[in-house]
Amino acid sequence: MANPTITIRRPNGEIETVETPKFARINNTLFARIQEATRNAGRGEVLSYDNPRPRFQSRTPHVSDICPRCGTRCYGDCTA
Ligand SMILES: [Zn+2]
Repeated sequence: MANPTITIRRPNGEIETVETPKFARINNTLFARIQEATRNAGRGEVLSYDNPRPRFQSRTPHVSDICPRCGTRCYGDCTA
C-alpha cells in the first residue's frame, strides 16, 4: 500500500510533493493540522493532499442476493 502524499510550496517558492508514511490516510482535520504544523515550522505552505486509492476492489456477493429457499442467486426463479 502506498502512502498518502502532500504537496507543499516551500518558502523558496518550490513546489514539492512528499510521501507521508506517518499517516495511513489523510482527512480534512488531519490536513489542517499538517498545514498548521508545517507553517509554524517555517517549512512552507501545504497546498493539497492525496490518499492512495485501493488498486483492487473485490465485490463479495451480498447475503441478501442468496435465496433462502435454494441457497443460490436465483433471484426468486425457484418459486416460479
Ligand atoms: Zn431460489
